[in-house]
Amino acid sequence: MKTIQSLGIVLFCLALAFFSILPFIGSYTLRPELVEKNTKDIHQKQMLEILQPMYGELYSSNVAFIADFNKYFNNYNDALKASQSWDQVIWDNYALPLTKASSQSPVTENPWLYLGLTVFLAIVGALLYILPMYAGKLPGIKHDGIYFSSMKSKGLLGIITGSWLILFYIVLYWFPEYLTNLILMVDPLSMAISGNPASQWFLYGLIYTIAILVMGIRMFKKYKGNAYQRLRTGSVMFFQLAFAFMLPEILVLFNMPWHDFKNIWPLDYSFFYDYRLEGMTSSGALGMFMLIWGIILIIVAVPLLTYFYGKRWYCSWVCGCGGLAETLGDPYRQLSDKSLKAWSIERYLIHGVLVFAVVMTAVTLVNYFMEFELLGQATNQLHSIYGFAIGSAFAGVIGTGFYPLMGNRVWCRFGCPLAAYLGMVQRFKSRFRITTNGGQCISCGNCSTYCEMGIDVRWYAQRGQNIVRSSCVGCGVCASVCPRGVLKLENADEEGRLQDLPIIIGNKSITIKN
Ligand code: SF4
Ligand code: SF4
Repeated sequence: MKTIQSLGIVLFCLALAFFSILPFIGSYTLRPELVEKNTKDIHQKQMLEILQPMYGELYSSNVAFIADFNKYFNNYNDALKASQSWDQVIWDNYALPLTKASSQSPVTENPWLYLGLTVFLAIVGALLYILPMYAGKLPGIKHDGIYFSSMKSKGLLGIITGSWLILFYIVLYWFPEYLTNLILMVDPLSMAISGNPASQWFLYGLIYTIAILVMGIRMFKKYKGNAYQRLRTGSVMFFQLAFAFMLPEILVLFNMPWHDFKNIWPLDYSFFYDYRLEGMTSSGALGMFMLIWGIILIIVAVPLLTYFYGKRWYCSWVCGCGGLAETLGDPYRQLSDKSLKAWSIERYLIHGVLVFAVVMTAVTLVNYFMEFELLGQATNQLHSIYGFAIGSAFAGVIGTGFYPLMGNRVWCRFGCPLAAYLGMVQRFKSRFRITTNGGQCISCGNCSTYCEMGIDVRWYAQRGQNIVRSSCVGCGVCASVCPRGVLKLENADEEGRLQDLPIIIGNKSITIKN
């Protein structure tokens, strides 16, 4: 078994190395016809002139190609900005489509081979490592040696992994042209599913989905014998594959707007942006359904389902961010900060993001219905700030890159505005609670250690007090790792949910304090 696992690690590391160096291979040559084909009609004339010095040049790497592209393109735009000729400035980003079109790398010739050497090899390596992991072991969650693992306790391996993820996210969000070869590699797959060439978001969606599926298999192995954990893992795998990855691409194939039916505003912060509203209202009956379905989710499904089941119905069973946190992020759940300071930062930050999202959306909608007479295009600035700071930096770079450094729910805990909304309903009007049988608690602290939301579960367990916290995502891991069966996730009647009758366990007595 050890040999198979070692082989798995070697294959995975090889695939990761291929994946990391692939963007830098190949050469690039720009030709006028490529500019014509990949720019909008209104920009064609200018772009053909701007990029003239690059035609026919052979660039030995994308770094050299992009450096020249940026030099000529920025010179042009900067001159216009200096003379305040704002209407002539080209705001569109042509770096990625033109780098992609100019590529002469071997990936363009044989994308399937490179997809095999990177993504598929990584899957094989990961499975060879994961499948034998708990073979021959009895059911029961094993966390042996977790604080001696460099990967799981902020050691060198964890820091390297976090840094790689952060770097990948930064390049993916803001400099995707440097990932040209990786995007070219998934072009045939994208063509097969949606009929369109791949963008960086297709690459991202593919890797994201594979990560959830492969690490979901690890969850099945790790939590064998635990029906709750296995069911909800199956659920997040299904929702990610079917609803977040396949269905939106198939919609594009049928000329419909890309739409994730399980994404809910304000997590889906662009839902009420003008281009989304126009896309939906101009797409016939299905487009109208998308709009109405989205609104029903916000005003009916969230309060109703959260009333009955707590926020777990979404955060731990449906959401893609939660899905990645619960699968890829599972090895890091013990790294969440349990301090009171973290809790106070959490409350200000997450509710601050919710207020930002609500105000931005309200202003956007008023402006839209006043036909942009109120603020003109100024709301676009607001959208850019939110998109950059919250949508990309917080949710993407920090949310995922910081798994090995701050635990797996950094975004869900500190930033997600939908989690804040669900949390308010869960705290004030819900049947969900975690009941604690305090008399059985041996204060081992397993529950607090593995609570990914930084809740000190043991504090409640020692007092026999129900846990009613807005941040609890109902992952159930505290209950799964408790050796005494103290904790139980329940949706019983609201009555008695908020109680404060601590069981005081003394040396010689157990008293229920009134
Ligand atoms: S309290 Fe338990 S169920 Fe809630 S988030 Fe923490 S570990 Fe998950
Ligand atoms: S894991 Fe169970 S026994 Fe251990 S501290 Fe938590 S509630 Fe008590």
